[in-house]
Amino acid sequence: MPGAVGDQSCVRSLELGGTKLTYVVDGAMAMFPSEFFPDVPAEYWANHPEAVDARGRVAMSAGGLLVERDGRTLLVDAGLGDFDGPVPVGDTTVGIGDSGDLPATLTALGRSPADVEAVAFTHLHIDHTGWAFAANGDTGHRKFFPNARYLVAAEEWAPHGRGETIPGAPPRSEVIVPLTGEHTVIADGEEIFPGVRALVTPGHSPGHTSFVIAAGDERVIVFGDVFHIPAQITHPDWSSRPDIDAVRVLAARRRLVAELEQPGTMGFGFHFGDQAFGRVVRGGDGLPSWEPVPAEVLLPAPRLLTE
Ligand SMILES: [Zn+2]
Repeated sequence: MPGAVGDQSCVRSLELGGTKLTYVVDGAMAMFPSEFFPDVPAEYWANHPEAVDARGRVAMSAGGLLVERDGRTLLVDAGLGDFDGPVPVGDTTVGIGDSGDLPATLTALGRSPADVEAVAFTHLHIDHTGWAFAANGDTGHRKFFPNARYLVAAEEWAPHGRGETIPGAPPRSEVIVPLTGEHTVIADGEEIFPGVRALVTPGHSPGHTSFVIAAGDERVIVFGDVFHIPAQITHPDWSSRPDIDAVRVLAARRRLVAELEQPGTMGFGFHFGDQAFGRVVRGGDGLPSWEPVPAEVLLPAPRLLTE
């Protein structure tokens, strides 16, 4: 059964051909609709009670997508990390978060950080880099996935490499500084893992990157934060507060809707409540919308933020 968009994500898995995709959930975020989605009209939320949780907040889980094929393991993104409190974008609090279960989730799945050969980042924001590095006593930070190459698109890394501060980025000393010299730059179209290609889709962040996974007869597009809620598939002009470039993110949304509408294509969204896996379909109104694909529940949502 697909879950509800108003719920935090369970740990769900989908096996397509010889490729297994598992959402390794780290924890929960609950976003304040008007703060995180300034362009969404108030009547949308009023008319769609299913789009929010019992307290009127948008349920957005954080975590990583584990891609397993032929005994090899890729992780796309690294969750929010050990976190409990308000989620800021710049000076604005846009919601609350409670996370830190990605390691326990991996263990429950029978995997360890040492098994991961590559971590590919959709973008360098706090809720996607949380477990990239762990504090290492007084000596700094160590890679949490010790054997993994850390892959970042050149366009995403560039402003950080110049020392710029990007809204939504993690604390520089905890992620950006240790990533300097530890990251491998990737390019648009590059095959970063067998059957997985980078698709640079900027706008939410400078070099936000989607990943296209060939899996059995399907391809699955991990579209990261090009979309935060399914409603942005239908309304691509509904921006998200952290979007850095309104023109480019709109182009990215339109491009990805067109890609997702291609036959044999599925999508994966980290923040789509408990509907992370799905397809884009045209409804009776002729508009594209998200249709969740049932994925097996391996574990319940690790944190719920029901308070
Ligand atoms: Zn995010």
